[in-house]
Amino acid sequence: MDIKEKINLLKQEKDAVILAHYYVDDNVQEIADYIGDSFYLSKIASTIQNKIIVYCGVSFMGESAVLLNPNKKVIMPDKNADCPMAHMVTKEQIDEVKQKYEDVAVVCYINSTAQIKSWSDVVVTSANAVKIVKNLPNKNILFIPDKNLGYYVSKQIPEKNIITLNGYCPIHQNISVEDIKELKTKYPSAKILVHPECDKSILALADCIGSTTKIIDYATNSENKDFIIATEIGVKYQLQKQNPNKNFYFPTHTPICDGMKLITLEKILNVLETEENQMSVSDDFSNKAKITLDRMIELSK
Ligand code: SF4
Repeated sequence: MDIKEKINLLKQEKDAVILAHYYVDDNVQEIADYIGDSFYLSKIASTIQNKIIVYCGVSFMGESAVLLNPNKKVIMPDKNADCPMAHMVTKEQIDEVKQKYEDVAVVCYINSTAQIKSWSDVVVTSANAVKIVKNLPNKNILFIPDKNLGYYVSKQIPEKNIITLNGYCPIHQNISVEDIKELKTKYPSAKILVHPECDKSILALADCIGSTTKIIDYATNSENKDFIIATEIGVKYQLQKQNPNKNFYFPTHTPICDGMKLITLEKILNVLETEENQMSVSDDFSNKAKITLDRMIELSK
């Protein structure tokens, strides 16, 4: 029996389901039951019936699954799979802004720890951030932790005062304008599809800005054949799978998320056997964090 067959067998025996983000390795996406971006996976996680959820992603995703499924066992193939941006804000920074503005809503990107969510009013993803922020009654919005997504949202909703701090995703921030321009010179008819976690200098070059799902949908529905993609390389698997006759070009300095790449088939098999690496969220902030996630699901309907 090969490793994929062993995983499938154990999944059935233990009533487990495997969720995977678009940024994990191809062979992990191949065996997953559900593959998607953070928004899709949180929606799925809130409706899943299985006893065990194996979450192939980074730790903030596992925490969100625990918050949405308090009675289920959520296990992570590698507990060290983490997102640096998820930690890039402090309570002091938030309090400082709150003191300055009387009426401010704290809007938290889902790529954040449960504790940071608990300091916030509502969670958003890159797929629903504009819609949710637009519908909030507050004029002043503190958008944490991603300053780049905050900048993108501010350009879509000029009537709001969007305040950002210094958080960013190092993988998207490192995508260089030179790399994208070089690709465009090489493939002049290519459309440039960009994730909003990229720097504004990259957003300025885009034909389409959106979540990984939006990027995949745009490429799939477009009559164009060539695409330059400014996001993590893992998304290439789905792009190519859904569009075998199209070409996808990524920056020469390949954007690779080290946390996502820690997930392997061997580690998935191991946690299915041992049920180790169970995620938990401290009682000190789980209730408050869950309210912000539930609010996102409600407001994005
Ligand atoms: S790609 Fe960036 S934002 Fe996404 S998990 Fe990796 S470090 Fe975090």
